[in-house]
Amino acid sequence: MGERFKIVLLGGSGVGKSAITLMFLQGTFLSEYDPTLEETFRKTMAIENKSCLLDILDTAGQESYTTMESRYIQNGDGFLIVYSVTSETTFEKVSTIYDLVLRVKDVDSFPTVILGNKSDLATQRKVTPNQGKDLSNQYSLPFFETSALQNKNVTESFSSLVQILRKKRETD
Ligand code: GDP
Ligand code: MG
Repeated sequence: MGERFKIVLLGGSGVGKSAITLMFLQGTFLSEYDPTLEETFRKTMAIENKSCLLDILDTAGQESYTTMESRYIQNGDGFLIVYSVTSETTFEKVSTIYDLVLRVKDVDSFPTVILGNKSDLATQRKVTPNQGKDLSNQYSLPFFETSALQNKNVTESFSSLVQILRKKRETD
């Protein structure tokens, strides 16, 4: 039996969690928007020549991050926290969500990667790459600007998280 990790996508509504998940799993872009989509997927992935099984939970957190989200967080081995570069509100939400992760897990840091999605929407951009970098530096977390539409940095985001999870499992 190889390695197995539970990865949870968190973030505001409409930032592209489902689109990122689908692009990663199937290589296709989800153009319609159903904010209630919520599902667990499974994928085997070879990272650095070693295969691992990923259970991926694409969440649909609607209102506040409360009971439901806390349960997702309890079960997760690692998190992708997604915002949209076209929305300051979703960017501000990243800190709230990561703080909740730390509170639920009762730790000072936890395997998480921050994703600024929709990097293809240049004319609608509200959050600069540097704002994303500054935030991730503050938390010492990896950061990628992604585009589910252009399949940019999608695989990289997942493999970055898996690499952190492996390191953690080795030292735990
Ligand atoms: P979720 O609520 O976070 O799961 O968001 P969705 O994945 O359902 O995406 C919300 C909307 O944004 C959908 O219409 C997607 O097609 C669109 N979308 C998602 N990712 C991108 C992206 O990288 N670029 C562009 N242009 N649109 C995106
Ligand atoms: Mg969704």
